[in-house]
Amino acid sequence: KQQSTIEQFDEAEVSPLLQSMTLAANIGSPSELPIAKKFFAQGVGLYRTEFLFMGDSLPSEDDQTEAYRSVIATCAPHTTVIRTLDIGGDKQAPALNLPKEQNPFLGVRALRLCFARPDIFHTQLRAIWRASCAGPTAVMFPMVTTIEELCQAKAALEAARQAVIADGYSVGDIAVGMMIEVPSAALIAKHLAKEVDFFSIGTNDLTQYTLAVDRENSSLNQLNQPYHPAVLQLIVTISQAAHAAGIWTGICGEAGGDPILTPFFAALGIDELSMAPGQLPKVRKKLTSLHFDPGEKEELVSSILDCATQDEVRALLSRYGD
Ligand code: PEP
Ligand code: MG
Repeated sequence: KQQSTIEQFDEAEVSPLLQSMTLAANIGSPSELPIAKKFFAQGVGLYRTEFLFMGDSLPSEDDQTEAYRSVIATCAPHTTVIRTLDIGGDKQAPALNLPKEQNPFLGVRALRLCFARPDIFHTQLRAIWRASCAGPTAVMFPMVTTIEELCQAKAALEAARQAVIADGYSVGDIAVGMMIEVPSAALIAKHLAKEVDFFSIGTNDLTQYTLAVDRENSSLNQLNQPYHPAVLQLIVTISQAAHAAGIWTGICGEAGGDPILTPFFAALGIDELSMAPGQLPKVRKKLTSLHFDPGEKEELVSSILDCATQDEVRALLSRYGD
């Protein structure tokens, strides 16, 4: 058994479904690792790096390298999935002094901003490569909408690798993935899957963009639900495309930590659920108690695909308890 600073949970709890899924933590800074460790996270499935950029000045390459290295080293032998900058929309970086936009969620956000500011993107990618020697590292790009964007981001990652090596640093291997959080990406998932090692589904934005509901607007909470059959259909499309291409898929939006949806994700064969650390015990408990008869997984997925409303989805999933 491998030793880890993020400890293994009690093996008496292990069930076959639990064994087939990685339960990882979403974090915004290294200071959240102790709580992830307390709840036995099997690595970090989403490291939201934009929190490093929320101060009055931009973090240097060295600052970033240190932050990434400390998370990667603490999680080893589990993997740390570092998400490249997702500034814009709900996440602001005062030091960037960005112009106000009419529709920030549809604007120069995430990769779009990184392409507009290649200096910032290059520095971050260099820092990730420099930190990658500390343990298993994966990188993923947010808000990918087209294959061209994904290829541009991968080219920037490779350019940063070469630059770092030319400067005499050693680098590790990095798995390269993308978030699927825009409906266009979900619908072309079979093409995108050829370009990456994994998908991570960002259900917060996927729900927002599919249902045209502002995720920040609390008066729309009732509509802003991942149980809408349209969102779940997209998740099925993504998961099937990933399986056909032989790559792994995770969920890293809030839905990943929602025990009501755990049976659906298990039936689909989702490989990793990454969530706020406090959700880990609930999802682990749900998975431990879950059992599927032969054929039941396929039947559950096809019944979900047949649902017309959120209520029908909730009724189906209620068979598996809270
Ligand atoms: C998501 O959109 O589901 C996601 C995980 O990213 P964020 O919440 O940081 O936008
Ligand atoms: Mg998102």
